[in-house]
Amino acid sequence: MKVLLHSWSQWSTSHKGVHMQFDVVIVGGGAHGCALAYELAKNNRSVAVVEARSLAAEASGGFGKRGVRANFRDIREMRLMAEAHEHWPRLADELEGETGYVRTGGLFLVEKEAVGTTGGVVASKVRASTQTRLGIPTEVWDQKQVFDALPTVSNAIRCGIYTPQDGIASHEATTLSYANAAQRNGAVFIENTTVAGINTQEGGHATGVTTATGEAIVARQSVVVTANVASAGLIGNVYGGSLPTWPVYPQALLLKSQHKPEIPFLTGHDSRSLSIKILENDLVMLSGGWRGQYDPETGRGTTIQANLDGNIAELRTVFPGLGELELIRAEASRSESSCIDQIPIIDVVPGSTNVVVAAGWSGHGWALVPSVARNLAAWIHTGHKPSALKPFTFSRLSLEAGQC
Ligand SMILES: Cc1cc2nc3c(=O)[nH]c(=O)nc-3n(C[C@H](O)[C@H](O)[C@H](O)COP(=O)(O)OP(=O)(O)OC[C@H]3O[C@@H](n4cnc5c(N)ncnc54)[C@H](O)[C@@H]3O)c2cc1C
Repeated sequence: MKVLLHSWSQWSTSHKGVHMQFDVVIVGGGAHGCALAYELAKNNRSVAVVEARSLAAEASGGFGKRGVRANFRDIREMRLMAEAHEHWPRLADELEGETGYVRTGGLFLVEKEAVGTTGGVVASKVRASTQTRLGIPTEVWDQKQVFDALPTVSNAIRCGIYTPQDGIASHEATTLSYANAAQRNGAVFIENTTVAGINTQEGGHATGVTTATGEAIVARQSVVVTANVASAGLIGNVYGGSLPTWPVYPQALLLKSQHKPEIPFLTGHDSRSLSIKILENDLVMLSGGWRGQYDPETGRGTTIQANLDGNIAELRTVFPGLGELELIRAEASRSESSCIDQIPIIDVVPGSTNVVVAAGWSGHGWALVPSVARNLAAWIHTGHKPSALKPFTFSRLSLEAGQC
């Protein structure tokens, strides 16, 4: 799959005399930037996506698949997730591109009364009924149902929480499918072009962005920052404050198991850091919150041996029936922004009238892409903030927001 991309020099050579003016300029060509470009272009907005490297170069790219998971998500995100669950199954047709989406169902395993005040068998019923009420159908499975469905699972598991609408999808393919569809609708993608700053007038109205090589790109209506970990720095000159976010480098592993991995669901665990996806070729993709660390030499993340071992040990404990596990691949190079209360900020930047930021996904921003893009596009289009976006304000963190 190929998206027709321009570098700045290619663009300016092939469009001599054309003003770099768009209704909306989006900074960052990950899944959120590309999906928003599609939703806006579909509604006849002129849009440019400016990407420092290549599309899906950071959290939205890489090997394997990502979880499209509502189960055990922060309940403030459930409304967006219920909406996303409606879109995922038909997204490939709509985009006329690959998404790799499979509705596997999601299962969280409950092993014991967990430490702390959440989790455990008793809390499972409350979680299931709350999720169901919030639009995510959820069932509690007893031990026998879990053992019947997962023959290789540990006999220490006591129950499971099942969400039939959860699934997995290919993050990189979906991001590129969004970009292709956006481009067919007229969106312009400019890669290898770093945005150095947002240009503002007095009163906080943004007029566009300036690239690291000094070119100006005009935004007639809005600038949207979907640059994930770089978002905090980019909005700094508009806002003057700092975002309560920080970069993390989530770890993802690919393993081959001795015995066929009969784990048909996107599987997580109530009290262990574990997320399991079985890929088409029966390889086990393993993650669940284990992290790598920043490598100053490459400027990217790198794996930590103790965390590789820890993640694999958790898998062995919970699925002893998998037998020997061979590590095929380990990666922690891609950065993700984590927010202080573990839900994103999707709002107009304080001090501005038309700069919007969407960042701070805290490790689970992928599944929300279709619904965030639709709601954000509707907000930009109509000027009315959809209620599904209301939990994600600056003001919840005592930071004042502007108007769109
Ligand atoms: C290993 C791993 C596993 C994950 N698993 C899941 C999962 O199972 N389920 C789930 O829901 N989520 C998951 N996530 C999180 C999810 O992938 C991210 O939340 C989501 O992809 C973020 O998309 P984005 O478009 O906001 O950011 P990104 O994809 O990071 O895109 C930001 C883009 O901005 C560009 N950029 C930065 N600075 C500038 C600049 N100055 N000028 C121009 N461009 C710039 C970057 O190059 C980058 O391409 C996972 C993340 C990782 C890393």
